[in-house]
Amino acid sequence: MSGQGGRKALLARMQITIDRYAQRTAVRAPGESLSYGDFSRLVGRLCLELRNPKRAQGGPVGLLLDRSATAYAAMWAAIALGRPYVPLNAKYPPSRLRSILRQAGVDVTVCTQANRGLATGLGIASDDTVVADTDLPVDESAGGAIDWGVSDEDQGIAYILFTSGSTGEPKGVPISYDNLASFIENLGAVIDYRPEDVCSQFCELSFDVSVHEIYLSLLNGCTLCPARQIDLFNPAPFVANNRITVWVSVPSLARVVLQHRGADHESLGTLRLSMFNGEALTHQLARDWNRAACGTEIWNTYGPTECTVAVTAQRWEDHPDLSESGVVSIGTAFPDCTAALLVDEEVVPVSPEQNGIVGELLLATPQRFAGYLDPGLPSPFIADSKGLHFYRTGDRVRSRGGRLYYLDRLDLQVKIGGHRIELLEIEHRLRRRLESDALAVIAHPPRRPTELILFLVGDREAPKLTSQELGLPSYMLPQRTFVIDALPLTAHGKLDRHALHERIAPNA
Ligand code: AMP
Repeated sequence: MSGQGGRKALLARMQITIDRYAQRTAVRAPGESLSYGDFSRLVGRLCLELRNPKRAQGGPVGLLLDRSATAYAAMWAAIALGRPYVPLNAKYPPSRLRSILRQAGVDVTVCTQANRGLATGLGIASDDTVVADTDLPVDESAGGAIDWGVSDEDQGIAYILFTSGSTGEPKGVPISYDNLASFIENLGAVIDYRPEDVCSQFCELSFDVSVHEIYLSLLNGCTLCPARQIDLFNPAPFVANNRITVWVSVPSLARVVLQHRGADHESLGTLRLSMFNGEALTHQLARDWNRAACGTEIWNTYGPTECTVAVTAQRWEDHPDLSESGVVSIGTAFPDCTAALLVDEEVVPVSPEQNGIVGELLLATPQRFAGYLDPGLPSPFIADSKGLHFYRTGDRVRSRGGRLYYLDRLDLQVKIGGHRIELLEIEHRLRRRLESDALAVIAHPPRRPTELILFLVGDREAPKLTSQELGLPSYMLPQRTFVIDALPLTAHGKLDRHALHERIAPNA
């Protein structure tokens, strides 16, 4: 499906799925069940509305939508029209959403009636707002016959996701149709989806693991079940009530299930396939999950947003070779991906003969993006002596016997609960807000952080920090602040983050 015709291939495959499974349920949510036929008509109606000449044409489509059939249909409408879509997470503070809208050049936004006020507040003109629950033509015949082979012009970009950026602004990652089509093909070759599967959809649309959940389900004729916010606090009943067979999430969500007091693990009995991504999967968690979910197949997948969701996969087994320091191997790269390690500034291809070599993971793959939206950002690429361009992941990994083992990060990017966070972005915002340079943020504990901690120099009181004021999502706010006399420095005069960790007594 990959190659130059990524968009054509995506649309052709959707057409086949809809023809083949027209009567089967495509999306099921409380009070809402859409067959593939209904889904196709919803996409058609959205296309019609987006093509309405009173709206701006051709540019990216913002999706101010939560997990829902409407959101999935809007994604497909954007693809059918050859326009990139940009998920806009309504939980982000408005200043962050404005930055995303501006950077991406979004000209039309699809939202729900509930988010309409937010859209107006963001400065989106009412003509450029499609309110999906009121604006769509009621007459189904009006947009019922979408032509999935439709060939409007496109600029090659399927979607733009924004991740935390170390310069203080969210960083736009444009993913092409070819990138997306390659990912779907590659993952589908490793993992067996069946049309009778019922798939979970837990991730926010602004997080790229949702691309895995949504596309693999809808392109395989499965039933996709968007979770409500409340389901994320206790996902086991959601699994039981929907008879979910395919689970996709960050490992943190599985931990929520296992730690839920009074959890009835029999409710996980329908799961046949569990796939994790986004952060380190510990061997212990995989083992506990396997036990709780009655022998579900478990996969650890790995990849940065810049290489389209996942580029490696490892099926978990309870075997010591498959983990290192208690963390499950991220496995081997997909067949069309060349993985290499940067060791002492040299690009060393990953090979099965390697016996423990460590370096920064480099990826050359058809899933690799072409560059950040902001051309002013430093290039994330490196070329080898043959001119092959690799994406520098910033992840330190070990290569042993043909498998890759994730160790840690080489920079100040961290993951908390699966959220990708640049500590430098938080510090940048705090400096502006507190008008002080003398501060530092750490993610604690260092190995598998669960909280952000601010150290602030001075004799002031710990300030109250809000998401709105800082322009950061709530998961990027420091949970604790320590006011200290001076920041500790290394022998080279650099900030000593290690020493800051040591100041925090366990359970302090
Ligand atoms: P994101 O762009 O949000 O998907 O985050 C990508 C980063 O998450 C990677 O560069 C890794 O640091 C981390 N990551 C993703 N998957 C895994 C995994 N299976 N094991 C360990 N770290 C992971």
